[in-house]
Amino acid sequence: MLLTPCPRPEPAPSRRRTRRTLSRHRTAALLASAVSVCLVAAAAPAEPLGVGDRLYPYLGNPGYDVTSYDISLTYPGANDRPLQAVTTIDARTTDDLERLNLDFAHGTVRSVEVDGRPAGFTSAGEDLVVTPERPLGEGSRTTITVRHTSDPVYGRNQQGGWVRTSDGLAMANQADVAHLVFPCNDHPSDKAMFTFRITAPNSYTAVANGLPDGADRVGRTTTWTYRTQHPMATELAQVSIGRSAVVRRQGPHGLPVRDVVPARDRRALEPWLAKTPDQIAWMESKVGRYPFETYGVLMAQADTGFELETQTLSLFEKSLFTGRVYPKWYVESVMVHELAHQWFGDSVSPRSWSDVWLNEGHATWYEDLYAEETAHRSMEERMKAAYGSSDRWREAGGPPARPKPPAPGQKIGIFRPNIYEGAALVLYALRQEIGRPAFERLERMWVQEHRDSTATTGDFVRLATAVAGRDLTGFLAAWLYGEKTPPMPGHPGWKQLPEDKAAPPLTRR
Ligand SMILES: [Zn+2]
Repeated sequence: MLLTPCPRPEPAPSRRRTRRTLSRHRTAALLASAVSVCLVAAAAPAEPLGVGDRLYPYLGNPGYDVTSYDISLTYPGANDRPLQAVTTIDARTTDDLERLNLDFAHGTVRSVEVDGRPAGFTSAGEDLVVTPERPLGEGSRTTITVRHTSDPVYGRNQQGGWVRTSDGLAMANQADVAHLVFPCNDHPSDKAMFTFRITAPNSYTAVANGLPDGADRVGRTTTWTYRTQHPMATELAQVSIGRSAVVRRQGPHGLPVRDVVPARDRRALEPWLAKTPDQIAWMESKVGRYPFETYGVLMAQADTGFELETQTLSLFEKSLFTGRVYPKWYVESVMVHELAHQWFGDSVSPRSWSDVWLNEGHATWYEDLYAEETAHRSMEERMKAAYGSSDRWREAGGPPARPKPPAPGQKIGIFRPNIYEGAALVLYALRQEIGRPAFERLERMWVQEHRDSTATTGDFVRLATAVAGRDLTGFLAAWLYGEKTPPMPGHPGWKQLPEDKAAPPLTRR
């Protein structure tokens, strides 16, 4: 570990001229105190930091803003061995920094460089604490290069970002495990551009978020490069490595659609893949233009127990489509759920994890609306059923906009019915209150105004108030933060139901 050098304070010029003798003493004293302060700071134990997220206090780090990640991964041809990796982070400092924390908690760090010079590093909690040779001044641009391994094998009770599939790897970082894959500022409030360079044996196909930027074959390996054209949260990164086919087609107004499926299942899965362009067109008819450069579904041969809206390439379990467990209309509505997230959750990301109802409430809303419009599944009936359970969901998981922290050891435990059906119910109440035309205008404006950015629950309440032309603060506060569910506008007869009479919620992401 390198010790941080201290800047030498200059004595004040007037004192230097007029009180020479004293000034020497003062200078010596100043230097002595500055050095001792610095030594104390440098010798203080490195500690994990966070950006103050109520639900995940140690996620993210203060003092800098990441502008881009360049992540190189070398896959050894087996998914139970670590990948060799180099992560290069371009950041802009927002404070003077003698040290800089990254989130990284799984894998071996071989070296760290800051602006091309070797830097000290140590770990503290789930952070990698980096000490550059020279302190970084506020407002400067800096490049941090970490050479490390990225290990897809986790402990029995540990959840990681890599998903081991039957033919390789996929990624599922939500909510807080991107930093078990690569060093990062692992909080959705710090979105950045991403470049992925994935080297794998020639028999594999690698796909990541964004558009391809070349595949270079050298001997027995190929390096695949992908770049995002829009900023992305770390939780939404996707890297798929497998014996995959990449199926290309066109979406609305020439949007490139590419799906990634196990090569041998390509033909069998085609009827599902063919649905995506119409689903995109349907979503565009509701909220406006698709926000990214490409879309597609990744059907992974893995039992994740969830689907995930990784940006431009949503992750699904292949068995959802081949298992014949769920009716066709339901599978299609789940496809629309992840597609809707590209607007709600990906393009507009939550400023903090307490705002996650804005992701899941909206994704559930469009899932339900699609089922109503294409499969005649009454939304009103679903909302009435949700209303019957809403108080119980609030008690178990907290009100939609103030979810309870995850139980110890269950970090994805915030994904409870209160932020799914419970939050879609809030949107339904709002539509009942302000009417369909104002609600639809609000939805379009929301994704337009906060596109490629982050937003809070407060931002949503303010926009709803502006669009409706009347103050909705009290109305929405009761629905978003109340321990009990308020009466449903227009449905005075809706009641909470005892548990044995309530419909069980579906679990999904
Ligand atoms: Zn979801």
